[in-house]
Amino acid sequence: KGGGHSHQIAYFPYFKDIKEFSKALSLLVTNVTLSSQNCKISAQEAFQIINKIGGILIPAHAFTPHKSIYGNCVRRLPEIFSRATLKKIPAIELGLSADTEIADHLKELAEYTFLTNSDAHSLPKIGREYNIVELEKANFKEILLALQRKEGRKIIANYGLDPKLGKYHRTFCEICNYTATSNPPVYKCEKCGSDKIVKGVFDRIIEIGDYQQSISPSHRPPYYHQVPLEFVPGVGKKTLNKLFDYFGTEMNILHKASYQEISRVVGFEIAQNIILARKGLLNLSPGGGGKYGKVKKKEKISGDKNLQLNF
Ligand SMILES: [Zn+2]
Ligand SMILES: [Zn+2]
Repeated sequence: KGGGHSHQIAYFPYFKDIKEFSKALSLLVTNVTLSSQNCKISAQEAFQIINKIGGILIPAHAFTPHKSIYGNCVRRLPEIFSRATLKKIPAIELGLSADTEIADHLKELAEYTFLTNSDAHSLPKIGREYNIVELEKANFKEILLALQRKEGRKIIANYGLDPKLGKYHRTFCEICNYTATSNPPVYKCEKCGSDKIVKGVFDRIIEIGDYQQSISPSHRPPYYHQVPLEFVPGVGKKTLNKLFDYFGTEMNILHKASYQEISRVVGFEIAQNIILARKGLLNLSPGGGGKYGKVKKKEKISGDKNLQLNF
């Protein structure tokens, strides 16, 4: 709808449902065993297939420029989905280039739960974004209740990349590879004036948003930004292995380990960067056009200043 392609996520309670879905899908694509196949049905029709099998549909990375409902299909959900369908969609996946604050410029999203999934296409990317969910048991029914925020079930926190690090955060020029830096929305390259651009997620949301300032509904859980270790300056493969050997998991390192502990394992400079990342104090240059954002090389923190940082 709206001329664009979009990705949707389908969740099912049972493996047999997934098989049934796969069978239904095989009639609609050229080769169901390959990923990234085009399926020429509307998202509303996709919903009908998923819903009939007992699954739920959630729009994936809802604002990215090439393959998402807001990114390149429509400005408002009712342009794609019927009223009854919208009631059955429990959540929206934010994607790496957006966060709660940015997404809550859209009024119609107030009723939806936000998911911060990692959209991992390879193993090391699992957990770069995640949700902390309050459930009685780990099963489909409980997860659905949590997404619907019913019976005390809910998402208690979203953990995600600082959206600046996402691949499509700002508008990107395909002619001179410049990533926009001025206030969104940017529709034309600020450097060469070309309109051959890949629109940024931030730019798109501000373009179609209802609010000047983000307004989050009261049910919104906190959103914690994290900078995965692969983005932290000075952290290469060897360092990563040392850190994992000692601390076990990336989340331990990003959110729990103390400055002293980390610096004992990999030295004070990397420890400092990890702690600065945790506190949101690293300078980031935004991603765009399919390239991740980066941590800017910092001015050397002097010994004195270093001591003043109270880790
Ligand atoms: Zn996708
Ligand atoms: Zn340009």
